[in-house]
Amino acid sequence: MYHENICCWHLGLDDFDLLKYGCTTHLATYILNKLQEKFDGIALLDYPNLVRLNPSIPWKTRGNGAVAIRFCIPCDNQKTLENSYTVLETVENIVDKYVDRIIKEFDSVTPDFEPGLAIVPHGLIHGLRWFYEKALTDVVILDDYLRKKLEKLGIVFSQRFSGRGIVGALAAVAWGANESDYTYELLTYRSKRLYATPRCVDENSVKLFDSMTKGITFNNYDYEEERALIIPRGFDPILYGVRGESPDVLKKALNIIKTCEPVVAWTIFRSNQATDAHAVHRNVSELKPFRTGRARVVIASEPHSMKGGVIVLKAFDATGEVLLAFFKPSHLNRVARHLNIGDYVEIQGHVKKWGNETVLHVEKISILKQTKSYLCKAPRCPICGSKMTKKGFGKGYECEKCGFIQLNPKLICLDTPRQIEEKIYLPPPHAQKHLIKPIERYGKERKLYFEQASPIQIKDVAKIIEPLQFL
Ligand code: ATP
Repeated sequence: MYHENICCWHLGLDDFDLLKYGCTTHLATYILNKLQEKFDGIALLDYPNLVRLNPSIPWKTRGNGAVAIRFCIPCDNQKTLENSYTVLETVENIVDKYVDRIIKEFDSVTPDFEPGLAIVPHGLIHGLRWFYEKALTDVVILDDYLRKKLEKLGIVFSQRFSGRGIVGALAAVAWGANESDYTYELLTYRSKRLYATPRCVDENSVKLFDSMTKGITFNNYDYEEERALIIPRGFDPILYGVRGESPDVLKKALNIIKTCEPVVAWTIFRSNQATDAHAVHRNVSELKPFRTGRARVVIASEPHSMKGGVIVLKAFDATGEVLLAFFKPSHLNRVARHLNIGDYVEIQGHVKKWGNETVLHVEKISILKQTKSYLCKAPRCPICGSKMTKKGFGKGYECEKCGFIQLNPKLICLDTPRQIEEKIYLPPPHAQKHLIKPIERYGKERKLYFEQASPIQIKDVAKIIEPLQFL
């Protein structure tokens, strides 16, 4: 692919979701289509990437997703920077048209519309690995100094779309520098005429798709809640999205899933969704606000119930102590209720600040070693044989009848079964956030470095079936 007269770029985009409609993946679908019209001989280096970033960022709209499109076109490769500016301008014009149309037809721009667009020449992405890791697990401050440093390397930031989305845009590009686990998602889009109406997808066909693709797709249907998980609930233009291990299995959805409204376009994305990529190993002392991570800790307090079914308890490792919070929708509060002091667990989640307290919001827990739980019977009085009762910590037992006090009576204690097991506990499918690896994916982890992949044609990854209804 990297021959003479072929130039490759990585285009990143983020934060294009407007007040109600529009979404960064919808724009990516539009861009892919237009790039095909503008550049003869264009080929993709990879499926477009849908990259989820730090779920703890307070200013995200929904799932903190950004998109990267990696493509090559015939060019004069002696003029890399000049070419980058030309390509950027072409993309900016495409995006301008998209934003104008959305605003004209449906929406007004919100104050927090902070779109970002960046172009990275192919040779530069290897140096950006750290940027993805930071944006996935921590907060990135892209100040003037860092921006200028990146520009000096040859990264070109859009002047027209230079809002906060630049961080996500660059992070999505940088994902490509990482050899990491991945999944795919096929997103289908609605007709713009139907945005304001409820989505119409036949749930039985979703169950059929689920049964026909078992093991290769996941989180299609929540059988406990009797709810299709592939249908979003917001105002965005997505009709449904199916997730799985290969593009081919996802394409089957287009024939199997029945909708009573048209699918006007679809795109298949490669993604870090459902990989636990954000759950990097950390010590307790590294669990700072807005970071994500996973840590091995010992439970240090009895579970304490709070309003709304939240359970909190203290835990520690060799580097410090942290408060853990387990919320009702995740159902993990039901597990936390049965934790004992001394239990050794691995917890994963993201860190928030509750006043002065640092709290890890737990999204997955693995019980590694449980302490034994005993139930001890009150002793009998050695003088009169009546029942004795405990007087208080360190004060021994007192006979209820004759008043005899014994400091250290021999107790008869029995092992009592624990209510939880030594295993991984996850939220139910409907409460699993984008990055969480579902149980069906354990053992399916793999790594791809996209340079090993063969070039892909845009028509195989994205299609606008009804252009007039798409935008
Ligand atoms: P949607 O799912 O509709 O695309 P979203 O939930 O992805 O919405 P955005 O509107 O894209 O949310 O807002 C997220 C914003 O946060 C973006 O501007 C992105 O650049 C920025 N951002 C993402 N991760 C980080 C991070 N780790 N540090 C700083 N800023 C971040």
